[in-house]
Amino acid sequence: MVRFDDILEKVSSYISEKEIGALRKAYVFAGQAHKGQVRRSGEPYLSHPLEVADYLADMRLDKTTLVAALLHDVLEDTDTTAAAIRESFGREVADLVEGVTKISRVQEVSPEVRRAETLRKIILAMTDDIRVIFIKLADRIHNLKTLRHLDEERQRQIARETLDIYAPIANRLGMGRIRAELEDLSFRYVAPEEFAKITATVEPQRKAAEADLAAMKKMLEDLIAANGLPAEIVSRIKRPYSIWSKMKRRDIGFDQVFDFLALRVITDSVKDCYAILGIIHQRWPHLPQRFRDFIAMPKPNLYQALHTTIITEGRKTFEIQIRTRDMNDLAENGIAAHWRYKDEAPPGLMVEDRRLHWLREMAALFEEKKNPQEFLRTLKTNLIPEEVYVFTPKGKVVNLPPGATALDFAFKIHTEVGLHATGARINGSPAPLKAVLKTGDIIEVLTAADKVPTRGMLAAAVTTGARQELRRSLDLKSLTTSEALGRRLWEKEIRKYVIPAESRREEDLAPRLAALLGPRASSMEEFYRQAGLGRIVVDAKLVEAVFGPVAARKPGLLGKAAALVVPGKGQSVRIKDIDGQMIKLAKCCSPIKGEPVIGYMTAGRGLTVHSMRCPLVTKEILDGQRLVEVSWDPSFSGTFKARLLIKSKDTPGVLAKVAAAVADLEGDIFKAEAAMVAEGKARITLDVRIRDIRHLESIARRISGLKEIQSVERV
Ligand code: MN
Repeated sequence: MVRFDDILEKVSSYISEKEIGALRKAYVFAGQAHKGQVRRSGEPYLSHPLEVADYLADMRLDKTTLVAALLHDVLEDTDTTAAAIRESFGREVADLVEGVTKISRVQEVSPEVRRAETLRKIILAMTDDIRVIFIKLADRIHNLKTLRHLDEERQRQIARETLDIYAPIANRLGMGRIRAELEDLSFRYVAPEEFAKITATVEPQRKAAEADLAAMKKMLEDLIAANGLPAEIVSRIKRPYSIWSKMKRRDIGFDQVFDFLALRVITDSVKDCYAILGIIHQRWPHLPQRFRDFIAMPKPNLYQALHTTIITEGRKTFEIQIRTRDMNDLAENGIAAHWRYKDEAPPGLMVEDRRLHWLREMAALFEEKKNPQEFLRTLKTNLIPEEVYVFTPKGKVVNLPPGATALDFAFKIHTEVGLHATGARINGSPAPLKAVLKTGDIIEVLTAADKVPTRGMLAAAVTTGARQELRRSLDLKSLTTSEALGRRLWEKEIRKYVIPAESRREEDLAPRLAALLGPRASSMEEFYRQAGLGRIVVDAKLVEAVFGPVAARKPGLLGKAAALVVPGKGQSVRIKDIDGQMIKLAKCCSPIKGEPVIGYMTAGRGLTVHSMRCPLVTKEILDGQRLVEVSWDPSFSGTFKARLLIKSKDTPGVLAKVAAAVADLEGDIFKAEAAMVAEGKARITLDVRIRDIRHLESIARRISGLKEIQSVERV
């Protein structure tokens, strides 16, 4: 529990002795008013206003705010009147306390209306005096910290309201630190299961991550110091809530959250920011699509910084944020940064701020829209901007979802423009297609008639429309791939027989195939394409139909699946790209790079790669005629999923030990389930992401080396 003296000590550096007198008076006043009251936690009620004032003292807020914070609950919970406060502390303090109290008193039945009403009251109270929201946010933080003492329904309700209303307001006002705290405190109550899942994923990685971060921090410090630039570096691991919301927003897995590890470089000037960025980009490769210049283009809440994501020698990604001290202060405290105690500026005459401008707009909006639902909807759009409005060079307005890029814009203009886009000019300056657009931008798309879309362009498109068009066009392109695959299958098949070279000539072959197969073989290209897609089965029967009875070169090679698996003589289909249309990994057995595999041709779906240990293969369920020899291309890299079934003694901490072992070897657990199966025996099912079969084997070995573990098997 915070003591009043602690607060005094904090503020003594910036608040005068005389003003401290007012704080003392407020402390005594609140103590008398709340006398005998206790919180749900069992603590004396006074502990709550003290915590709230303490939080605001950390933000170095002015005396009036602190006095009002100490008194913020006396109107609501005691017999004290506003007149009494005005008499003892003046009008300003009394208005602040009344403002805070009004927000608390929203009693509406429907949650929707209650939310709208709350928001409306907050906005109105804030336009009277913005400091109301500082107190209300600090109040909310302490209430969240003590939320465990309430019943579950209240917990969820308060946490939900925080995420819906208070966190977005804090964000809109640029108060990054408070927003983060509000979100993290609420997360566990709003989505307990997701919270547990994320924590379970993050925790095993935290230890390793902390060591990585410390090492990286040291390297950065040395690098920047060697270049003679000033910098203070702090590191952080991404918060559970922001991991969760990012995964949800982008529909991505944990391993795609690139800014899990981040370092913040705080320096003196804007010039130094760019200089440091240059030094970092020279030293490590960075992910261009992740680079953001929020200094040149601040966020709507005026946030400024440079963000870049680098890849280190150890193939780890780190997000690095570079900003000046002022930018950092504004990022953490937002509008509250202006409310620091300042001797020279009388309160009320604060610096004009776009954030306040927004607030006034919101208040005006309320005047226009009396219907709470409608107000809520409009307000939400403004709290979390849902649309970006940009212009064509001719001035036509195009609206896009936030995060949309120049490429999305191109597709929105016309599919053909999108497909042939080579680059863009945003507000007259050249920009890549992946450039994120902001409201007011004027975009010109550059095109070239011979430009064909590539798979890489998918990364630059955010909107569903653009992605669909791109996919459709890429599928057309994959037809060429199926043609190559079909040709390969055909050549491989006929090589098995003694066939005179002249009969194999395409000119002779084409009419015969066309006669036999009809339109599916209208040309050799079409025949190969259909074969590659599996719509024509290339097998002994087909060869015989085309060439008549032929002698096999190597008798006995046909039929048996096993016989086809001759380890790599360069004849097999190499698995280079599972992302393509043509080659997929079978879901039934999830083959892993490095383990023996075999391909299976499916009509219209190309080639599916099965593990040789797949029951479909071992039990000869798959049609032997359609099996194709495949092997892993060494250059192919990706992540694979595998499931391990672990039998162990049921001792406390065994799951943590297993998780630590996996993390140690850089495996990534994305799901873990432990169950007690019998007295003293537990079974753990672990879903891991790994690089290849050797990686999985080393993880399995490491786990089975733990003394609690009885067996580990891949299932
Ligand atoms: Mn309170």
